[in-house]
Amino acid sequence: MRVVGLEGTAWAASAALYDTDSDDVHIESDAYEPDSGGIHPREAAEHMGTAIPEVVAEILNVAADTGEGDAFDVDAVAFSRGPGLGPCLRVVGTAARALAQTLSVPLVGVNHMIAHLEIGRHRSGFDSPVCLNASGANAHLLGYHDGRYRVLGETMDTGVGNAIDKFTRHLGWSHPGGPKVEQRAREGQYHDLPYVVKGMDFSFSGITSAAKDAIDGGVPVEDVCFGLQETVFAMLTEVSERALSLTGTDELVLGGGVAQNDRLREMLESMCEQRGADFYAPEPRFLRDNAGMIAVLGAKMYAAGDTVAVADSGVDPNFRPDQVPVTWRAGEAS
Ligand code: ATP
Repeated sequence: MRVVGLEGTAWAASAALYDTDSDDVHIESDAYEPDSGGIHPREAAEHMGTAIPEVVAEILNVAADTGEGDAFDVDAVAFSRGPGLGPCLRVVGTAARALAQTLSVPLVGVNHMIAHLEIGRHRSGFDSPVCLNASGANAHLLGYHDGRYRVLGETMDTGVGNAIDKFTRHLGWSHPGGPKVEQRAREGQYHDLPYVVKGMDFSFSGITSAAKDAIDGGVPVEDVCFGLQETVFAMLTEVSERALSLTGTDELVLGGGVAQNDRLREMLESMCEQRGADFYAPEPRFLRDNAGMIAVLGAKMYAAGDTVAVADSGVDPNFRPDQVPVTWRAGEAS
């Protein structure tokens, strides 16, 4: 089976071709890079409008070159239905509907956050892991129970990447800020910042404010970057350990753009090692927003008969993972 995936929830205009026989995933992406500040929804949507046709054309060329039989040899088109920025989602949703109708194949509507989880489960071969999604606009822990991914814990305010990016905007650094904080933290000493965990929920906004205040108060930027990473990632590690303990699971997968950070992976790996759990983080191309994960989950959903009619395929900027009936795991134990 071959599935085309389309992604465009925020900054990455991305198309992919996934072949279930070879397990090959070909991804073409074009990133929106703001001139200054953070992601501007209208500018990001304009980027989708020009970049999506280009990445789709590239993927269709790959499909034509590698397909058997008819022109493109594609069985379904999957797309990110949400969560994300409404103006971006609408552009990509329109492109996905047009492509599915042009190819005369079914449409599959994918939850972007579950795709961040399922790509880790797929690549690791883990059975039923807890998943920590550490992305730009989100931060939550998911665990599977009784036909749904349950939100075991989540941020009470901003996503983890957004919290870091807000701090770097205060410094005048260009978007995205996460990789720059990671680099500067390598030269820093620990600077104390508020640590906010409530059960398995957590909060970042006070930490961002305290980090900005520290900069304004003259604390060296390297030290604030180091303190910010240690604090935020220790919080995510603590709640991940609590989720493993609560569920009795000994598998943890990591997803989302912030998961590209070496220090976060190191902390989670060390925690898992100490409690005898297995840890897996996919390769970077599957961590940041990408259509590969959409195509892979789309193929699982299509195989389960989980397609959507064009008339019912509206996007949902607030699409939560626990709203999705997990059709592709039917029959598996909870
Ligand atoms: P979501 O998946 O919630 O829609 P998103 O669309 O913002 O999130 P992602 O690609 O998952 O996109 O994540 C982007 C975020 O990852 C940005 O906030 C960026 O600063 C952060 N990031 C990227 N690389 C690193 C890194 N090495 N360390 C920390 N953060 C990073």
